[in-house]
Amino acid sequence: MIVMKFGGSSLANGERIRHVAELVKLELPRKPVLVVSAMGDTTDHLLEAATRALETGTVSIEGITELHKNAIRELNIAMPKIMPLLAELQILLVGISLIKELTGRTKDYLVSFGERLAARIVAAYCQSMGMEAKAVDAWEGGFVSDSHFTAAELVPESWDSIPEKLMPLIDGGMLPVLTGFIAKDCKGAITTLGRGGSDLSATMIAAACQAEEAQIWKDVDGILTADPRIVPEARPVEAVTYEEAAELAYFGAQVLHPRAMQPCMRTKTPVWVKNSYNSRAPGTRIVAALEKTRPVLGITSRNQVTLVDIVSTRMLGQAGFLAELFADFAKYGISVDMVATSEVSVSVTMDATYDLEPLKKDLSRIADVEIKTGKAIVTIIGDVDRSSEILHQAFGVCVSLGIPVQMVSHGASKVNISFIVNDTQSTEVVQGLHKHFIGANFSEGSTSCI
Ligand code: ASP
Ligand code: MG
Repeated sequence: MIVMKFGGSSLANGERIRHVAELVKLELPRKPVLVVSAMGDTTDHLLEAATRALETGTVSIEGITELHKNAIRELNIAMPKIMPLLAELQILLVGISLIKELTGRTKDYLVSFGERLAARIVAAYCQSMGMEAKAVDAWEGGFVSDSHFTAAELVPESWDSIPEKLMPLIDGGMLPVLTGFIAKDCKGAITTLGRGGSDLSATMIAAACQAEEAQIWKDVDGILTADPRIVPEARPVEAVTYEEAAELAYFGAQVLHPRAMQPCMRTKTPVWVKNSYNSRAPGTRIVAALEKTRPVLGITSRNQVTLVDIVSTRMLGQAGFLAELFADFAKYGISVDMVATSEVSVSVTMDATYDLEPLKKDLSRIADVEIKTGKAIVTIIGDVDRSSEILHQAFGVCVSLGIPVQMVSHGASKVNISFIVNDTQSTEVVQGLHKHFIGANFSEGSTSCI
């Protein structure tokens, strides 16, 4: 069997859904399981509707209803069972407008309608094309998560419950159309796996059901060497490792959900990232290992980063100082990205979204603390065995651009080199590095799968 996941833009309207069904039909002999996201930007629209209900007391699902009804009309199919869902959504929004409360738990319940509507429409259209399709809500497909609303983790039992639920359907010749992104916790509350989480739903099914491969269909030609909005000449790569894909996903490339690689990494199930708008493009293959002949795979950046500089002579030769320091970060729930240390100082970065004042107050008891905002992390993903060469050349690029590098970290995952610059300069640095390392002469032919 295989898993085919289609993201929101691949399901933006009736015509796109028709195209998806054609792609699926071609793969029918390989017994696909379909995983779908919400149509288009429905997740965002649901969240906007909730904010409106909360702040102004206005309840409106007109746009969302229209989008789905239009698709049904374009596909020329009988109305699938979406009216009860739309009615329930309306009631939920009224509830939010009355109670004036929008917790993570309510948000997850709310956004789940996007995937549930999409799965029903896609399944109905596949049926109309003669396929034995069936819409399956994630919890009917064995997805059980913890109760960390808006960013839930699947519990280990899912590794058994997913194949238990899905394999009988597949073996019975059925085409399950599963809602990505959502799950239920053990008490039956609806949860989500974090934005973009349907990638993780797909890789989880592929890994747990021992699929031949997972296909992640997007609106780009695969994993690119850089964000095309920053570097217009960014191009797709033929193959990457799970580690490289995870780094690219986390540091800005946004092609994949950051945790999506985890299940398939464990089972070594190959993952393909493909373009539903250009299905002839080969896409990117993600595998366990590659022959390393390519110094630099890609350049990414992440803006709105804060740097915290901690200096203390108490660190000198002390045991447990770092433990004490990071305990403070943990106490305030601050997730740290980059760390660089010397004998008397530690520099740490994190998202700019945290309120760092309480942490600063605590840390000031043991160290001098300086908070520097407006920073960006620039990351080079490449062959760690050639890191001296890469660092030498990367700094050369920064010197020639006259841009000072403020902190460097050679990633522990052994595929990334990251450094900090001012975020006003990150675009220039990424473009300069891309031109230098990847440019026009970069030979993709040098990469081959083991
Ligand atoms: N629909 C959800 C989102 O927009 C999940 C996904 O697309 O994977 O984040
Ligand atoms: Mg989406």
